[in-house]
Amino acid sequence: MSAQTPNKETAEGTLFIVAAPSGAGKSTLVNALLERQPAISLSVSHTTRPPRPGEQYGRHYYFVERAEFEREVAEGIFLEHAEVHGNFYGTSRRTVQDLLGQGCDVLLEIDWQGAAQIRKAKPDCVSVFILPPSRAELERRLRGRGSDSAEVIERRLRNSRGEIAHAHEFDYIIVNDRFEDALDGLQAIVRAVRQRAGLQCQRHDSLIKELLAEG
Ligand code: GDP
Ligand code: ADP
Ligand code: 5GP
Repeated sequence: MSAQTPNKETAEGTLFIVAAPSGAGKSTLVNALLERQPAISLSVSHTTRPPRPGEQYGRHYYFVERAEFEREVAEGIFLEHAEVHGNFYGTSRRTVQDLLGQGCDVLLEIDWQGAAQIRKAKPDCVSVFILPPSRAELERRLRGRGSDSAEVIERRLRNSRGEIAHAHEFDYIIVNDRFEDALDGLQAIVRAVRQRAGLQCQRHDSLIKELLAEG
């Protein structure tokens, strides 16, 4: 996670979840969102997946061996964890809790199983599902990304139906057809959530009191 400016007057930050079938454009959208909205911390997951060319330890993932991951599960360090496309992925409980506790918003890029676990642990979270505009385009993007073997791509395409079948469980759905439109949609969600009355009443408590004062 990167250090961010905390929302000092808010009791706790908001936890955002973004999920999608592999290749829908989730990471590209999230990275572009964070350029527009740097006051959100991206949670770096632990995974047993081998790094892709260019992926860095601690920046994209904490790449760990299977035995280490299992030890971490047993120690209870994960807020959620799941097996996705034959690899294990998990979100560190401590980092997420620390940042939320400081009033920072945190974004998790996780699969639907992890999203379901987080909704139970943190019912106030806000979840977004990204859909590709068509199956053909999903396949084109996965192949075009050029980061996975043909076998891995086939597996991810096969698994995409299982992921998309859970789209209705999310608070928001964005179709990533024109990239800029999808990005605007994602940013609109973050902006709207930040203007929720519950949060705004805490942030602007003194303003509201002043406006209500007699005379
Ligand atoms: P891509 O996001 O499809 O390019 O591929 P990745 O290999 O980076 O991620 C594979 C899947 O694992 C995706 O569905 C992610 O959302 C999911 N994932 C990544 N990190 C986590 C995590 O910490 N927890 C859970 N539950 N899923 C994760
Ligand atoms: P995910 O994280 O969901 O697996 P990526 O963010 O890696 O997906 O995106 C998959 C590929 O699709 C990347 O090569 C990315 O540049 C491309 N892509 C993402 N969004 C769009 C879009 N709206 N139009 C065309 N290509 C896109
Ligand atoms: P990739 O291997 O392509 O980076 O990710 C594959 C899938 O794993 C993506 O759908 C991604 O969202 C998911 N994923 C990544 N990190 C986590 C995590 O920490 N927890 C869960 N549940 N899923 C994750």
